[in-house]
Amino acid sequence: MSSQKKEERHTCVRCGRLSDEGDKYCIFCGAPLINHCGDEPGLVSKGCKHINRKDAAFCAKCGYQTRFYLDGLIDPSPYGDNS
Ligand SMILES: [Zn+2]
Ligand SMILES: [Zn+2]
Repeated sequence: MSSQKKEERHTCVRCGRLSDEGDKYCIFCGAPLINHCGDEPGLVSKGCKHINRKDAAFCAKCGYQTRFYLDGLIDPSPYGDNS
């Protein structure tokens, strides 16, 4: 019976190491661990901040590129033409 709140541990998409609970960036290679929407708050945008799945190249909410995609951590090949 544990009432401790468990935070998810993420596996780094770049180096494959397991992060500590609550970490937002990989301590081994500096890659972001959470695939936020890349739409940052700015003058004209409030920012989306949606958290996408790790293999998402584009935000499921607004269609903007995701953090992982912008950082080159995932390589989307929508048409599978990399033969
Ligand atoms: Zn890493
Ligand atoms: Zn978004």
